[in-house]
Amino acid sequence: MLCDFHIHTGFSDDSDTPPALQIERAIALGMERICITDHHDYDVVSQIDFTLDFPAYLSAMTQLRRQYRDRIRVEIGVELGLQRHIAGYLNELTRTYELDYIIGSRHFIDGLDPYYPAFYEGRTLKEALRRFFEVSLKTVQALDCFDSFGHLDYIVRYFPEKNTNYRPACYADYIDPLLQTLIQKGKALECNTGGFRYRLGHPNPREEILRRYRELGGELITVGSDAHTPDYVGIEFDRTAQLLRECGFRYYTVYHRRKAEMLPL
Ligand SMILES: [Zn+2]
Ligand SMILES: [Zn+2]
Repeated sequence: MLCDFHIHTGFSDDSDTPPALQIERAIALGMERICITDHHDYDVVSQIDFTLDFPAYLSAMTQLRRQYRDRIRVEIGVELGLQRHIAGYLNELTRTYELDYIIGSRHFIDGLDPYYPAFYEGRTLKEALRRFFEVSLKTVQALDCFDSFGHLDYIVRYFPEKNTNYRPACYADYIDPLLQTLIQKGKALECNTGGFRYRLGHPNPREEILRRYRELGGELITVGSDAHTPDYVGIEFDRTAQLLRECGFRYYTVYHRRKAEMLPL
């Protein structure tokens, strides 16, 4: 089974799951390696506190890594909320703490979280998506403090109509340069299987975008479930391995101490 490199625990304010339960679930699924990636979104206005207590988190994860070392390899990561205006802060943060892997995710757009309906007020769904991809492109162009760009089209999860009218090709003027920027910078693209949990029938991003990344020369694909509870760890990973092979990938990527390693699909 593929290694799950996007897992949340109770260190994220939107999860109540003790880290050991996520690790036990991964072992039960036969995984040899995972990465815990709790949220850290700095300087956002939200009902949820998405900031991470790094010293407490790193200490707990280091202890768990040691405790489980004979049964599974636990890497220590973070899902970092990317925003251009805090570039200096993010650079300093990622220099300060020793992490194995950093997912860079764009969670807030114009100060709003697309999880909530306020983001869509006064915009058509197409306008909302255009704005989301435009901001994502500028973010990826401006920032370097991450290893893989997280769940590129995840906001379709929260649309009232989900992804029924979503055509990635309509946004190629943003998505193509975004993918090219990742490739030029040596950054990975994340294939996030949380899309299946939201009943999209696809990962985030969709297959068209994964295939396009490969066509443009992209090779670094990370895979993660985005599980906040044990039942979603490794969700649809067998199907995803097949899907990635069909998109032209032979390997996927994991990280240790921020260095990429390729594993066969
Ligand atoms: Zn996320
Ligand atoms: Zn996540």
